[in-house]
Amino acid sequence: MLTETEITEVFESSQSYLQLMKEADRITKARHGNYITLERAIFLSWYCSLASCAFCYMSAHGSKIDREKAKRAPWRILAEAELCRRAGWNIEFLSSGYGALERQEIKQIAEMIAYTTHKAVWLNIGVLNEDELSFFGEEVEGVTGSIETLDSGIRSKIVPEKPVKPIRDMLINAKAQGFKTGITIILGLGENLEAISNLLNFIDENDVDRVIFYSLNPHEGTEFENRASPASLYHSRVVAITRVSFPDIKIISGTWVDQLPSIGMNLLAGANGITKFPLFSMFGNHLGKRVEQETKLANRKLLGTFSDWKVLKGEKELEEDRNPYALFNSRAPVVSRRAGERVEYFRPRIDKAVKEYIAKAEEKSRRSKYSI
Ligand code: SF4
Repeated sequence: MLTETEITEVFESSQSYLQLMKEADRITKARHGNYITLERAIFLSWYCSLASCAFCYMSAHGSKIDREKAKRAPWRILAEAELCRRAGWNIEFLSSGYGALERQEIKQIAEMIAYTTHKAVWLNIGVLNEDELSFFGEEVEGVTGSIETLDSGIRSKIVPEKPVKPIRDMLINAKAQGFKTGITIILGLGENLEAISNLLNFIDENDVDRVIFYSLNPHEGTEFENRASPASLYHSRVVAITRVSFPDIKIISGTWVDQLPSIGMNLLAGANGITKFPLFSMFGNHLGKRVEQETKLANRKLLGTFSDWKVLKGEKELEEDRNPYALFNSRAPVVSRRAGERVEYFRPRIDKAVKEYIAKAEEKSRRSKYSI
């Protein structure tokens, strides 16, 4: 694990940075191979009872959102899961704000998605206590704590209602109950280098399995709306420091669509997966192609597709050697019979929603002068 002095050195010396990148690239290929997954969070609801995180869309608009109306229809969620399965995109996690759904609702959706994709899901739905965690079974692979930043100077201002301790307790309880654990970190909030060394200590002390780094997406109406996203040389430094410190964890790196050039560097720095892309706006156009090129030039093999319409439409299966659902053939979780029955009951509405999503993606692709 890198020390504070070594972290400082990586930021103060370009040669140290380049050496670290070289080491991160070597470790990643040796421990994880050269596969890169496409990851997509599936939102269950647009409501959050906190609506207070300074960078979040909810902090600007949350008070106007009605909890019941903000819930997405299950067939639309399942349609998105079906498209992820077809295109070979991993479902990063099921996501909602705090208090958006009852645990029974979350379990039902998780089971239905596991039935659809034959894969257990991750959750990112706020803090769950020991009792709430025990409610979930094989349909859940892991739980995510949205830490966001470990800079002690800004944390209480950025995430005033998300203290670290309950999140840490959830991760410890989740581990004890056999779930994997992950955290999310947002880069570019104004954090200092101490935050990186605190992050390394947190991963180490809590045996975290997966870290997701997002670059700040400056939302309109928040205090960050005029703030620039972090530089690629900053983002990749943090990823590389984490990779070299923890060779075996999974790292996912999220860059918004205006940050596509930083993907290649994040992959060289040790990311195993990339996320935060608007699937239906990027499929079949120059943006999706750019992601594929960035991956190729980082000498990695991108799983899933950003460009094959036949695969998205279900007219052909994704090739096995590009399909994470086939390549990492984990045992399908056992879910209740009721979950399967509900999916089949929703099937006509799921199929209709799938067609709508594809039509939307085709329309966006047609309008792009860079369609491929
Ligand atoms: S808890 Fe999540 S959804 Fe709620 S305000 Fe914070 S970041 Fe936004």
